[in-house]
Amino acid sequence: MNTSHLPRAWAEIRLSHFERNIQKIKSVLPGGVCYIAVVKADGYGHGVGHIVERLLQCGVHAFAVANVREGSDVRYVAPQSEIFVLGPTLPEEMEAAVADRLTVALSDIAEAEAFNALALSRGKRIPVSLKIDTGMGRMGVWHEAAQPLIERLIALPALEFRSIFTHFSSADTSLEYTQLQRERFLNVVEKIPVAVREKLLIHADNSAGLESFSCRKPFNAVRVGILQYGLPPAEGTFFSKISPEPVLAFRSRIGLIKTLPAGAAVSYNRTKILSRDTRVAIVTAGYGDGIPTAASNRAQFIVRGKRVPVIGRVTMDQTLIDVSELPEARVGDVVTLIGEADGEAVSIESFCAWGDCIPWEALVSITKRVPRIYEGLRSQ
Ligand SMILES: *Cc1c(COP(=O)(O)O)cnc(C)c1O
Repeated sequence: MNTSHLPRAWAEIRLSHFERNIQKIKSVLPGGVCYIAVVKADGYGHGVGHIVERLLQCGVHAFAVANVREGSDVRYVAPQSEIFVLGPTLPEEMEAAVADRLTVALSDIAEAEAFNALALSRGKRIPVSLKIDTGMGRMGVWHEAAQPLIERLIALPALEFRSIFTHFSSADTSLEYTQLQRERFLNVVEKIPVAVREKLLIHADNSAGLESFSCRKPFNAVRVGILQYGLPPAEGTFFSKISPEPVLAFRSRIGLIKTLPAGAAVSYNRTKILSRDTRVAIVTAGYGDGIPTAASNRAQFIVRGKRVPVIGRVTMDQTLIDVSELPEARVGDVVTLIGEADGEAVSIESFCAWGDCIPWEALVSITKRVPRIYEGLRSQ
């Protein structure tokens, strides 16, 4: 195979898989439930521009990001959509949030007053979300202290009260704690006057939540992140019926092959001393591209349809693999770190087990040095 057109390392983004995942998610969501697509951290490392574009083509019109800067990036691609900023806004970011009509998350009265004053001075109204801390201990007003803030939100003239939400701390591990958080949240929601409540998007669930979503009233929105990018939902969750397809594959190349004698030390700190003569291939990607150092001496990559072991330490720019059992390996060969190749596959879960990380982290750790190559792009 001629591989000379390929980079040293790249992430293949299969938009056709992404689209099928979106369609599957849409098909199981009950009517009237708003699909908020979480596209923070550059669309979980997939490239937010193309990701948002494809979501729009599939009829998804609400997005969530972590901060104002990300919100402005999405606004550029999605001029009409609602864009939720999930994290706190710094004072110096408020101006941009108002200008780009982002829906900001509020956790206290001072923030609400500041946004109200700024919007008034600009002759605008700003949509806001109220974040309730039901036991994550991160953002949001503590659930027992929410009432005065709710009253203030309703009273401040330049704030448009759009949504109320909470975030589960252990949706994938503790059904019991998730239920407790859900009840605390519902207690807050119940105290909002009906006329106001009827207009709100009310949401708590991320991809892993939703196991108790069947009792869904008054929930009318979900924030879906990792599932869209192909990570399978846990057993028994609302989305467990659908089997999403991985969107991203992570690949690199063999830059050099050589044979080292028994007793030679491999890579920094001599983390591996060879017990036999070894044919070593140098893969042109390292932790500077997104291979975790924890994968040293542990991970397996795919070359020519066979799994081969990583030996020695992952370094910034290179990683060594043992190709003694693969005499046909050649300089220029494609090396698959995550994804399918010639009937073999390394799942993101295996990559994470070797790399001591979680799938979210592995995806967003693929660095800027790694170009994203899109499959299935549509001309506009
Ligand atoms: C990231 C995030 C999500 C999406 O979570 P996934 O597990 O990727 O589905 C939802 N809500 C909030 C507040 C988040 O920060």
